[in-house]
Amino acid sequence: MQRPYNFSAGPAMMPIAVLAQAAEEMLDWPDANGVRCGMGVMEMSHRGSQFITIYEQAVSDLRELLAVPADFKILFMQGGGLAENAIVPLNLSALRANAPAAADFVVTGSWSEKSALEAQKYCSAQVVASGAAEQFIRIPEVASWRLREHASYVHICSNETIHGVEFHSLPDLKALGSSTELVVDFSSQIASRTVDWSRVGLGFGGAQKNLGPAGLTLVVVREDLLGRALPICPSAFDYQKVADHHSMYNTPPTYAIYMAGLVFKWLKQQGGIAAIERANVAKAELLYRTIDASSLYFNPVHPDCRSRMNVPFFLREERLNDAFLEGAKAACLLQLKGHKSVGGMRASLYNAMPLAGVQALADFMTDFERKRA
Ligand code: PMP
Repeated sequence: MQRPYNFSAGPAMMPIAVLAQAAEEMLDWPDANGVRCGMGVMEMSHRGSQFITIYEQAVSDLRELLAVPADFKILFMQGGGLAENAIVPLNLSALRANAPAAADFVVTGSWSEKSALEAQKYCSAQVVASGAAEQFIRIPEVASWRLREHASYVHICSNETIHGVEFHSLPDLKALGSSTELVVDFSSQIASRTVDWSRVGLGFGGAQKNLGPAGLTLVVVREDLLGRALPICPSAFDYQKVADHHSMYNTPPTYAIYMAGLVFKWLKQQGGIAAIERANVAKAELLYRTIDASSLYFNPVHPDCRSRMNVPFFLREERLNDAFLEGAKAACLLQLKGHKSVGGMRASLYNAMPLAGVQALADFMTDFERKRA
């Protein structure tokens, strides 16, 4: 089935095969042997054997896909990335004995800026490096980060969904001589590429970009960091409790977990994360090549840290913005309008976007530029 290409930044395009399977199973879910159970996944108790099977398969497929080491817990939570901006400091800001709760922040765009602001409610939160003075077109050199010795962790956003700035490798804090933990908001990066878990203490992200529908939040955390939540931490957000109850301390987002599980199976069929990463590199290169070769479009981000997932681009003649979006829609290229805080355009190229979709966008852009004269 051919549908328009959807470049939304999230909730975003899902693989068609996943949507089709979910539709087929909506009324009556079949187990691995094809035996139907008389109910759909939305209607199952989260404590029943059918849902436990779905949950356990999703966790084990994700662990395999992302090569998550055995000493990390995979937690399925709710509240999205923004809730984690509070939940992380509530759980991890007091890791250091005899030191006040404290966390450092590297600000590379709107999302990490928001994270630093929220954390101030719960601990001493300090921005230790920022790209704001340059309008977030590059990531401050790791060696320039003024990490505080008594801070429990440093927070980064590995891919800034609005500004299109991505860490292409995670900072190696141990090599810097720092014992601080690395916390990563990987909302718009997770499952697009391999992860070096040896550099990570905790990663979190909303599912609605690369993992599945909105409503599910993924947290991957090294287990030795658990059990030191601030006393004010709500029980449902205490990672230790969530881990002890296998993400079922309270009712988890069951349908979103099921959908994410189907996405994980689809990712395995695509050849796993290394294969999907190669495809993502090819897609991003095609679009940046098109932008750089044009005299109408530009992307301001330094080539070293341009995002593979979210490509913001601007028309040098802003008066053409509406015509561009209308023409794109007519060409079956949807949701290309940039975030309202920065304007322009943004093409999000998550895993479910095929190369053919990016080619269609590149062809449209080239054609639009030629015709505008
Ligand atoms: N962090 C990043 C990098 C994001 O892109 C987003 C949402 N676009 C958020 C956090 C906020 O996530 P949510 O809307 O799930 O709270």
